[in-house]
Amino acid sequence: MPLELETEILNLTTRHPFIIARGGQSDYRTLMVRIKDADGHEGWGEAAATRFYGETLETVQAAVAMYAPLLGDDPHQLEAIERRMELALRGNAAARAAISSALHDLVGKRLGVPVWRLWGLDAAAAPQSTFTIGIDTAEMIRKKVAEASGYPILKIKLGSDRDLELLRTIRDATDRELRVDANCGWTAAHTVKMLPVLEEFGVTVLEQPVMPHDLDGLAHVRRAARIPLIADESCVTSIDIARLAGRVDGINIKLAKCGSLREALRMIAIARSHGMMVMVGCMIESSLGITAAAQVTPLVDIVDLDGAALLRNDPFEGATITGGQLALPDAPGLGITRR
Ligand code: MG
Repeated sequence: MPLELETEILNLTTRHPFIIARGGQSDYRTLMVRIKDADGHEGWGEAAATRFYGETLETVQAAVAMYAPLLGDDPHQLEAIERRMELALRGNAAARAAISSALHDLVGKRLGVPVWRLWGLDAAAAPQSTFTIGIDTAEMIRKKVAEASGYPILKIKLGSDRDLELLRTIRDATDRELRVDANCGWTAAHTVKMLPVLEEFGVTVLEQPVMPHDLDGLAHVRRAARIPLIADESCVTSIDIARLAGRVDGINIKLAKCGSLREALRMIAIARSHGMMVMVGCMIESSLGITAAAQVTPLVDIVDLDGAALLRNDPFEGATITGGQLALPDAPGLGITRR
């Protein structure tokens, strides 16, 4: 009997409007994918469509509808199913990631083991997760820093004309570790000017200061930087890694960019073969999507999986973050339950 696929729209609201260098909002809609086998097992996944990568809820729905008839009847054929999807309709990474997550969840449930255990990983090896403070007024920044008191590492979004004010406000409010993500908001020349400033404020990691295509700009920044430089928007899938090697210190993997759990594992292996650091990040998504991404965290150096922690109404329970420490569920598959 062919695997059955159903979808459901999830309406998510962040506690505060989430603003980065290219804008932001409070209301997000993601798509939940449920895949059922003939034995009554059900695997779940979530698609967080990002317009920056060419996807909306509507394109995700259309892509998932095209992929559904390609599932076949054996969920264990993960490589073959993912290959069929890529050949049928390229791109649409968030849609494919949701199906990949649901299939891995289903396979884990059928075998009675958590996905991280299926991969031979030690859940206790996951590094601490950062918590992101989006661009906001000084008053709101202070409020958010106080609300994030459980997180020892904060990530700040820069790339607006108020960068110095934001850095000053946040540093006045806390002595915790700070990492910076400029989301392509700076030029290479401006980034080089900002490096001593970031250093003065004790910033320990710099993520994607320049435009995605500006690989020479990244290399220029890296030569001048004393802190690790991580490529996010410049690194979408494994194909991008070889040309980033030597130009950045590490890459940020997100399921909604790379399109599958298997591709995330390939990216980790390729980045390691180039001696690069690996970070795993997320979009604004519920604990469903976050827990899927969390399965790879025992293999990475930097974890930024706060997407569900930023929500007011997370519909799921899965991976948790306590005192910054990520904990993976022990239950079979992804280990997610509905609240
Ligand atoms: Mg980023």
